[in-house]
Amino acid sequence: MIEKHNLQIYNSHSGEKEKFETLHPNFVGMYVCGPTVYSNVHLGNMRTFLSFDLVFRYLKHLGYKVRYVRNITDVGHLESDADEGEDKISKKARIEQLEPMEIVQEYTTDFHEVNALFNIQPPSIEPTATGHLIEQIEIIKRIIDRDLAYESNGSIYFDVIKYNQTHDYGELSKRNIEDLIANTRTLEGQAEKKNSQDFALWKKASPEHIMRWPSPWGDGFPGWHLECTVMSTKYLGETFDIHGGGMDLKFPHHECEIAQAKGAYGKNPVRYWMHTNMLTMNGQKMSKSTGNTILPRELISGDNNFFEKAFDPMVIRFFMLQAHYRSVLDLSNEAVLASEKGYQRLMATYTRMAEMPVSEESTFDLQEWTKACYAKMDDDFNSPMLIAELFEAVKIINQINEGTLKINEQDKAIFKTKMKEFIEDVLGLKPILNEAGNQKLTQAVELLIELRDQARANKDFITSDQIRDKLKHAGIQLKDGKDGTNFSL
Ligand code: AMP
Ligand code: ZN
Repeated sequence: MIEKHNLQIYNSHSGEKEKFETLHPNFVGMYVCGPTVYSNVHLGNMRTFLSFDLVFRYLKHLGYKVRYVRNITDVGHLESDADEGEDKISKKARIEQLEPMEIVQEYTTDFHEVNALFNIQPPSIEPTATGHLIEQIEIIKRIIDRDLAYESNGSIYFDVIKYNQTHDYGELSKRNIEDLIANTRTLEGQAEKKNSQDFALWKKASPEHIMRWPSPWGDGFPGWHLECTVMSTKYLGETFDIHGGGMDLKFPHHECEIAQAKGAYGKNPVRYWMHTNMLTMNGQKMSKSTGNTILPRELISGDNNFFEKAFDPMVIRFFMLQAHYRSVLDLSNEAVLASEKGYQRLMATYTRMAEMPVSEESTFDLQEWTKACYAKMDDDFNSPMLIAELFEAVKIINQINEGTLKINEQDKAIFKTKMKEFIEDVLGLKPILNEAGNQKLTQAVELLIELRDQARANKDFITSDQIRDKLKHAGIQLKDGKDGTNFSL
């Protein structure tokens, strides 16, 4: 299966589309920077995770065995990229008067629930920064041994100038180190750095800092960039196939990851860098820091001031897939309404494919259509172009139903399978239920609610929680109230 394809990936390191060749035949190692779990993920974050879900799904569809690692940042992400300010999680914990790990737990759970709502598949490994402190300390020692980091007042900094003498700091972001230095003010508190561009590998914890661990350099916590170098190389090797994240992470985060990995192992860590473009709202990047955000649940419940009505998560998924991952996508009422119409049209036709009349022979070229679909996805995961091909299929199906085109039994089976593969497996879209399907589902969920009530009456909370959690994972939320349990699909 894999050989027949000619997948091209836009490598943001080279700035070109390149033929995708894996390090190990048939295996793909992919690392994507996960969320910093100090608040609810917004739709902008979800666009990035959804884009890599498409990549993950398509690679698997092509037959690759994919090890997809997506981390959870639960320590080390400071408020400012210049190693200044409070740790985002510590700050939230202080404000809410909670343990940092309570914050981490709450927003990791939220992230998982939102992923399930959007039918985003879980990664193969989801490591946390706090789970890899020993490895982080070890890699710092290696970088110090290679004379590329120094200690200053209990913190360890990466020596960017020294590194740049033998490497190219700026190779990914195409920034020039002289310009970087000239354009950075030395901020207060940065005096312990030799140079303003140096970045923290380890930060000394002040006495009031709550997230702290012992190290050879005293109590402290790891720098943000380090966790990704450690977790990607630990699970995927010192060099791996794909590294992804939003465009806003290119600098400094990913630039620093390259420097750390080359500094520690002397190897280029990543073969293909993939960066997703931003979701905007009113033309402005959706961002937690500016407050220009909509949470997935606000969109789905309709409880927001921006949209006229509530939208199904599948409509949002479809809306996002209608843009290429490297294009900016602006969220607007009109655009999502148009996607909703398109989605309903596509799915209505798709779910009724079984009713297509069959003839002795086919009068259109199914293979050509299939080839065109693959060509679109092979061209740097061009989902909007694949969707255009799916609308071509809608036309063909309508013509078959009207009798202006014919399809034979065998082609009908292949056509149905291919549509399922593209719509459900690759794009991850779920069919809309028709009236009868809805009724059946409602009956089945009501039965499960009854069984859960019985389990609860028998104090069998393992079973009752299992029913609730599994339904939630399937996107069905149970709500217990005074008058019994309701649910929303
Ligand atoms: P964070 O939790 O801030 O580290 O962000 C998690 C991921 O979401 C990163 O890969 C970001 O690049 C990405 N991201 C943040 N804002 C947006 C946005 N408006 N559109 C697309 N991706 C975003
Ligand atoms: Zn990262």
